[in-house]
Amino acid sequence: MKVIVVGSSHGGYETVRGILAAHPETEIQWYEKGDFLSFLSCGMQLYLEGTVKDVNAVSYATPAGMRAQGVHVYTEQEITTVHPDRQTVHVINHATGEERDEGYDKLVLAVGAVPFDLPVPGHDLENVYAMRGRDWAIKLKAKTVDPNIKNVVVIGSGYIGIEAAEVFAKAGKHVTIVDMLPRLLSLYLDAEFTDTLTQTMADHGIQAATGQGVKAFEGKNGKVTKLITDQGEYPADLVISAAGIRANTGFLKDVVALDDHGLIKINDYLQTSDPNIYAVGDATLVPFAPTGQSNRIALATNARRQGRIAAKNIFGDQVTMPAVSGSSALSVFDYHFASTGIKAGTSEKLGVKSQSVLVTETAQPAFVPNDAGNAKVWFKLTFDPADGRILGAQIMSKKDVTANINTISLAIQANLTVYDLAYTDFFFQPGFDRPWNIMNIAAQKAIDSLK
Ligand code: FAD
Repeated sequence: MKVIVVGSSHGGYETVRGILAAHPETEIQWYEKGDFLSFLSCGMQLYLEGTVKDVNAVSYATPAGMRAQGVHVYTEQEITTVHPDRQTVHVINHATGEERDEGYDKLVLAVGAVPFDLPVPGHDLENVYAMRGRDWAIKLKAKTVDPNIKNVVVIGSGYIGIEAAEVFAKAGKHVTIVDMLPRLLSLYLDAEFTDTLTQTMADHGIQAATGQGVKAFEGKNGKVTKLITDQGEYPADLVISAAGIRANTGFLKDVVALDDHGLIKINDYLQTSDPNIYAVGDATLVPFAPTGQSNRIALATNARRQGRIAAKNIFGDQVTMPAVSGSSALSVFDYHFASTGIKAGTSEKLGVKSQSVLVTETAQPAFVPNDAGNAKVWFKLTFDPADGRILGAQIMSKKDVTANINTISLAIQANLTVYDLAYTDFFFQPGFDRPWNIMNIAAQKAIDSLK
């Protein structure tokens, strides 16, 4: 069997790893159009803040290591066309200019996405940056120590925008985050959480400019100097655009079925409209457990799950992609937060009726002092008012209690209710937590609210 895998980030890497584990005899050709194999943008903040010193370390695989396992690795080689009828791909080698065709038995597309380029005047000015991939990581790193960069404007307050803002605030820059939504991080957290986080960011020199749309970038001598929104103007020596992503699927238009957003349509087994071609990662939709619908949830965790499943199914297994709850976590200065599933703020848009309860408690019994690690915890549980089914949760604290959200993710995937969660057995030890875990307390409060 000859398998071609296109793309070397999370989806492609996991596909190759899965094939190697179960079918090491397979002829694997692995293509990456960039000059670096398997850069992981998830580690970019750690590199930009200096925790990880070497940009090349932000990777899971090296060409030499993969070749030693028998994989044919091709970097700087782009798949520009696929011919499903002949089962061939057309390859351009950007290093040499050479072109060739390669045949495949199965093809796995892990082509991912690129940052969305806002189509406004001035978007092509110098110092308008994005934050994805190794090339941008290196360019951004240089700007963190560039004394000419004083004012940084970040567009978009999802987790990528927040990471960018924190990096540059810690580097001593004045940062403004612009978002068309009314609150920072509003797709991840409800207002009880974002009010505190927005204040924390303000305390660290990050100004929120929410509820406004970007109209234009203005510049001088070809370099950006200002961002103009429908409500104001913001001085900018550097703009970091983190306003969404666009699937890397231009070359697949007449090859496999795409949706209106250019995402590759796949079935439960990750097969595209052509049964010999599979697709995984940010260029696809994933099943969302709380609604049963497919959603765009661009996370490495989903790409990895899909890659593992595709690696099985191309050999005839019939593994379906499990519905996910869209769990993510992030630190914002001293705070750690995580969320999963539906929030009160996203429920209406998803067409779901929901009810929520908020619990605020100290993580450990009140007698444990803060300087011994105790801290306030905010926990919000969202559930279906008709039957108490758990739909989502959010948590935040200066103590890292984010792992609770993984429990809620499991509860969502297992269709558990607040009645199940109210008396679930969770451990207690005052060095860690309280006799009633905060998830028990929230579920008990939810039951009271349903009476
Ligand atoms: P991508 O990562 O988009 O990679 C696709 C690869 O395919 C690219 O290297 C591209 O060059 C290559 N390629 C595309 N087309 C071709 C072609 N025709 N020929 C050859 N090669 C091609 N997710 C988390 O779960 N947790 C996190 O903490 C997290 N942090 C993030 C932080 C940042 C700053 C960013 C940008 C993303 C973060 N993500 C995180 C999201 C995560 O990085 C993505 O979900 C994940 O990278 C998607 O993987 P992918 O394989 O679909 O594609």
